[in-house]
Amino acid sequence: MENERDYPIFTKEMKKTHTILVPTMLQIHFQLMTNVFEFYGYNCEVLQSESRKVVEEGLKNVHNDTCYPALLCIGQFMEALKSGRYDPDKVALMLPQTGGGCRASNYIHLLRKALKDTYPQVPVISLNFVGLEKTLKTAGT
Ligand code: SF4
Repeated sequence: MENERDYPIFTKEMKKTHTILVPTMLQIHFQLMTNVFEFYGYNCEVLQSESRKVVEEGLKNVHNDTCYPALLCIGQFMEALKSGRYDPDKVALMLPQTGGGCRASNYIHLLRKALKDTYPQVPVISLNFVGLEKTLKTAGT
């Protein structure tokens, strides 16, 4: 429920001020998708880092029985936030939720948990087509 959230959401105002970081999960698809978002006025960036730090941040921030794709996505976000390349007050993170049997639907909770202590101001946007979260709709799309 709205008033029970203990994490920030992406607001309409943030559309003008924030860069939405997207993981390199499906590089070609996500690049196409971010082009569409940019057409609608969002500022997006597909992350490119593939350094060892991505794996290290993943191992630091999620439990080691988490699947490797989840570990890499969260590691890539945390590496980006810690790199100094972005102002943590001006970024949001976008993560897909499948809504199916794959545990990818739950990555978003792992990511919010990883952010809680160090970057509690950073909103996470759910990209899903099954109505799990409506964070972009909240932003007035
Ligand atoms: S299918 Fe889903 S849960 Fe399984 S490894 Fe891939 S992303 Fe992870």
